[in-house]
Amino acid sequence: MKNIVVLGSTGSIGKNTLEVARNLKDKFRVIGLSSNSRWELLSEQIEEFKPRYVALNNSQLAGKIKSSFPDNQVKILTGNNCLEEIVLHEEVDVVVSAVVGAVGLPAAIATVQQGKTLALANKESLVMAGHIVMSLAKKNQILPVDSEHSAIFQSLQSGKRSEIKRVIITASGGPFYDLPADKLPDVSPAQALKHPTWQMGQKITIDSATLMNKALEIIEARWLFDLNVEQIDVVIHPQSIIHSMVEFCDGSVIAQMGMPDMKVPIQYALTYPERMSLSVQPLNLSSIGSLTFKKPDMEKFPALRLGYQAAREGGTMGATLNAANEVAVQAFLNGQIKFTEIASSVEKVINNHHYIKNPCLEDILSADAWARQETKKCLM
Ligand code: NAD
Ligand code: MG
Repeated sequence: MKNIVVLGSTGSIGKNTLEVARNLKDKFRVIGLSSNSRWELLSEQIEEFKPRYVALNNSQLAGKIKSSFPDNQVKILTGNNCLEEIVLHEEVDVVVSAVVGAVGLPAAIATVQQGKTLALANKESLVMAGHIVMSLAKKNQILPVDSEHSAIFQSLQSGKRSEIKRVIITASGGPFYDLPADKLPDVSPAQALKHPTWQMGQKITIDSATLMNKALEIIEARWLFDLNVEQIDVVIHPQSIIHSMVEFCDGSVIAQMGMPDMKVPIQYALTYPERMSLSVQPLNLSSIGSLTFKKPDMEKFPALRLGYQAAREGGTMGATLNAANEVAVQAFLNGQIKFTEIASSVEKVINNHHYIKNPCLEDILSADAWARQETKKCLM
């Protein structure tokens, strides 16, 4: 029996994680939950899973939950550091980090420092500080939840590290891949929130439409699998059936496939190195008919180019790119900027930033804070 904590339990990955845990009750006990939204859903989750701890960094939500559940039933942790505090409890074995954004970084660091397994959906923590997080982690202590990285992780089991030639990350291309470039400035948040193949939270859905999600995933893969940027290719694959591939030195390319369903990579991260049965829609290739592939268009989707740039330069570049993007995506969702201004403002900010090659955590956090300020200024 393993004790798990789910950070971001009311989100898209969080809910899927709890569904996996519900089906594997004899293997996993949910002892911690955390959220900063949707108190009705969180209350239902507390009723069902009876966690020992709940971390709430939103004081309003904390007040509501405290008034519904007595102290002796569940311990409510509050304040800015509550995500780190909840993972530190001795009985925690596995932390699923499914919060969105930079807020996930301190808890990711605390989890690996404590020697606990980190099932990582929150790619932003590796984008910001991959060199720090990975240097603290032992082999296979961080298990990817991101579907592409899970696919790479699974495909890598066909060969040795020294035999890897490159990885090929697939991208659906999002809802606008075939839209003429001159139409992109006018797309609305509602249009951008309609992803063709995946149901996800708002921020990652916008990132998928700009291809910034793929940019973040290049950086994530670079750190997670210790690759050179030249070993990371991206291919547009609109059906999202091949979740990513690894090419080995003998020319063999191993792919991981399946219908798009995040429960598969989530469960694999929880049960690794074992596989357990899971009820998912089976892959029926003859009914899908064809799988197609295209070269990514980095002129129409400059975010992808910025991802390669940030992955190559490292240092504070990832944190700066991530923070600028978080602010720009929110501004787009609020109707303050055009879709194409997301990538253009991120580009301005990363190219103006005071770059540090080997940053410590403090440098990373200052780069993040600076980039947020600068992006807001640039969008005014
Ligand atoms: P979501 O918006 O659906 O859920 C986010 C969760 O985090 C919610 O429970 C929310 O309450 C919590 N949260 C948000 N801001 C917070 C804050 N400041 N402090 C504490 N908690 C906070 O997001 P999602 O789609 O589930 O994505 C979560 C993470 O997983 C992201 O990093 C995303 O890139 C990654 N990811 C998601 C998918 C997917 O299919 N949704 C796939 C791959 C990777
Ligand atoms: Mg992904």
